Amino acid sequence: QVVTRFAPSPTGYLHIGGARTALFNWLYARGRGGRFLLRIEDTDRARSTPEATAAILEGMRWLGLDYDGEPISQFERAGRHAEVAHEMLASGHAYKCFATQDEIAAFRDAAKAAGTSTLFQSPWRDADPATHPDAPYVIRLKAPRDGATVIDDQVQGQVTIRNDQLDDMICLRSDGTPTYMLAVVVDDHDMGVTHVIRGDDHLNNAARQMQVYAAMGWDVPVFAHIPLIHGPDGKKLSKRHGALGVEEYRAMGYPASAMRNYLARLGWSHGDDEVFTDEQAQAWFDLSGIGKGAARFDFKKLDHISGQHIAAEDGEDLVLQLQDYLDAVGGKPLTAPEARALAASMPLFKAGAKTLPQILEKAHFLLTMRPIEPDEKAAKSLDDVSRGILRELTPHLQNASWERDTLETTLNAFAEAQDTKFGKLAAPLRAALAGRAVTPSVFDMMLLLGRDETIARLDEAAR
Ligand code: GLU
Repeated sequence: QVVTRFAPSPTGYLHIGGARTALFNWLYARGRGGRFLLRIEDTDRARSTPEATAAILEGMRWLGLDYDGEPISQFERAGRHAEVAHEMLASGHAYKCFATQDEIAAFRDAAKAAGTSTLFQSPWRDADPATHPDAPYVIRLKAPRDGATVIDDQVQGQVTIRNDQLDDMICLRSDGTPTYMLAVVVDDHDMGVTHVIRGDDHLNNAARQMQVYAAMGWDVPVFAHIPLIHGPDGKKLSKRHGALGVEEYRAMGYPASAMRNYLARLGWSHGDDEVFTDEQAQAWFDLSGIGKGAARFDFKKLDHISGQHIAAEDGEDLVLQLQDYLDAVGGKPLTAPEARALAASMPLFKAGAKTLPQILEKAHFLLTMRPIEPDEKAAKSLDDVSRGILRELTPHLQNASWERDTLETTLNAFAEAQDTKFGKLAAPLRAALAGRAVTPSVFDMMLLLGRDETIARLDEAAR
């Protein structure tokens, strides 16, 4: 059975790159009936915060990346990591190193002066335990010095790292705490992880980690190191390219389904397929579809995909997402009648929308209450002349039957009598009914508002 995992370090928000890593692991497992696990790599006590963990969990919840079982805390497994370090010690694959910081620094200085490798070579590697002092020590891996470590990476291909370029890494510090490099291997092994899909900034770590697998006689997982995400200019994605945290995309109002779709396409492809469902993505996702080059973040593409998802989603579902969006930006929650009204006429509101707030903007006339406060643009079309026209119009609406056909006939006839085009009439009507210059069609608004509310708004604007 396939087992993947996402292993973020809780040192900040859920970065868009991390979210994509999580998504790839999720897609790979879900598409194969496997398990997707979450491990919080909180061994670095100084940099890990509970707030960051909460933000990661919240980001994953929003993105809909459900994981199996409970999140695992790496820090809480420190005892197990130490146990493995001691097992390697007992089997001769690791050794106690008593070298002090000063001795290590002296070694480096001497190596520099002599022009040889500055990778520390501990004199304790082959020392007789009988000669060990009663002093603090670290446990180092007795890594092979000859030959090479070959990573058979599913994205990068065969990556060979000469063993003389890797020193005997520390597995257990002198205070008994495990190093990150040891912890990752022990955790991945104990969690039964079969596929490690992560950023290619971890490629070099993989070589060291393979030495631990070898020392313990454990099976090495399949590795897939994915290229990082770049900005539109081809440079490594950073703050100046715009939003980095997943929660910022939530606050911009991109539906989570669109985000999943867009992130899946960021560095992975399935032919020319651009817009797809989760089911399709899960069925199609494969490591062979991951590109070797860095993917570029492209807001235009995200908008396009987002618009397609909004178009495809049904009213009830979009209303739930609107609620979530309002929650994210601290907006007033929708009341039950508002939610019902939105869902009922969603095709009208979502037409052309690329983000959730654009839906709310279209539905503004329905969600707002009298007094209607026209925005700056709308206010311009409510001058004395148009107010006079609105005043004259209302009596015609008192008796008209409230149907699209009749309303159209009534308004067109009225415009003609006023010696003007309906187009001229539309702007003050939009301003009066919605307080906006851009709205759904005037007739749609009138039908949804009903006769009494329509007339009340026209009266108010005409005053
Ligand atoms: N904790 C590491 C990170 O956040 C990931 C380690 C891994 O996936 O093996 O970059």
